Amino acid sequence: MPKQIPLFKVFMSEEAPLEASKVLQSGYIGQGPIVEKFEYSLKNFFGNQNIVTTNSATSAEHLILHMLRKDNREMVRGKHLYSWPGINEEDEILTSPLTCTATNWPIILNNYKIKWVDVEPNSCNIDLKDLERKISIKTKIIVLVHWGGNPVDLDKLSIILDKSEKKFGFRPLVIEDCAHAFGSIYNNALIGTHGNFATFSFQAIKHLTSVDGGCMILPNENLVKRAKLLRWYGIDREQNRKDFRCEEDVSEAGFKMHLNDVNAAVGLANLNHVINKVIPLHRNNASFYKERLADLGGINLSNEIENSESSYWLFTLFVEEQQKFIECLTKQGIQVSRVHERNDIHSCVDQYKTDLPGVNQAVSKMVCIPVGWWVSEEDRNYILDTIKSGWI
Ligand SMILES: *Cc1c(COP(=O)(O)O)cnc(C)c1O
Repeated sequence: MPKQIPLFKVFMSEEAPLEASKVLQSGYIGQGPIVEKFEYSLKNFFGNQNIVTTNSATSAEHLILHMLRKDNREMVRGKHLYSWPGINEEDEILTSPLTCTATNWPIILNNYKIKWVDVEPNSCNIDLKDLERKISIKTKIIVLVHWGGNPVDLDKLSIILDKSEKKFGFRPLVIEDCAHAFGSIYNNALIGTHGNFATFSFQAIKHLTSVDGGCMILPNENLVKRAKLLRWYGIDREQNRKDFRCEEDVSEAGFKMHLNDVNAAVGLANLNHVINKVIPLHRNNASFYKERLADLGGINLSNEIENSESSYWLFTLFVEEQQKFIECLTKQGIQVSRVHERNDIHSCVDQYKTDLPGVNQAVSKMVCIPVGWWVSEEDRNYILDTIKSGWI
């Protein structure tokens, strides 16, 4: 049997089980000091104070979309937010269908409308030209994904939003789904810190795992305060409650979306390893592929913009004979995949169907190959040789 090289692998540090076990035996396993510590470390890493953890990225996105509802908008403050009119049921969110369903289902579950935006068939990132064409007075929010960790051109996006602001009198808000992009860099700053709303996932197979978990980075402190209330019923956990079972008045009902100390202990124990070891290994394998695969016929590398550095959660190739390529690598024990099915083909979003030639093309050519920390030098040579000999 040939060797098996998986496309994903859970990264768990040696300390993680120990740290989780300490929490499990401490008598306090809910949201407490370890969540606080994890958030503190994330704030240090990102160089940003406006970070709120949640029990998943999906929760973070749901909560953000809920916060931005029109009825609640007087609580939204800060640059770009003053003129923003809020969003309600008649409004549209422009979003890419080429992503995890977690990016888009919170939109319909918050009762907003989706308008699909095409993707660039050479990167799988949102097509900013199509986005610009589709912006209307109904466009209150734009959701984008940094595919595989490869940053979207946020400066170009900003110019489009400036134009839109001139035309309609408000600037659509941007939510960046950064689930693939922990540690990615754009214009010398970490993805997630460019002033938009951003969400990260600490799910099992992401760069950083807390088993399950996530966080959001918000544009200002008021939103942080509000998000902290909304992630736990609307009750302030930071106030000294007069009676620990009976809360103060709840002025706005909230969800149960908080992270707990067990998950936080796992995330915290993995964090430094991910920053210092895991992400550099992903990048190192990616450079190897970029150099060696650049000139192979029938295979194209992903387009990357200047001033950006992906953290390569995925390494996506675009190949002419996709099916043949997939069969060839699979037969040699190399796991490959398109990773996410396009969301627009599901029947729950039938009503939003539209022609998306870029997505059609991307889906017919894209293949993600193993690139992560578990891919050794021997493995990547084996993958390269298999591509060269078996397929070309
Ligand atoms: C993994 C992932 C999510 C969901 O993350 P959870 O923490 O599992 O909710 C969202 N968006 C993208 C693009 C993802 O890959």
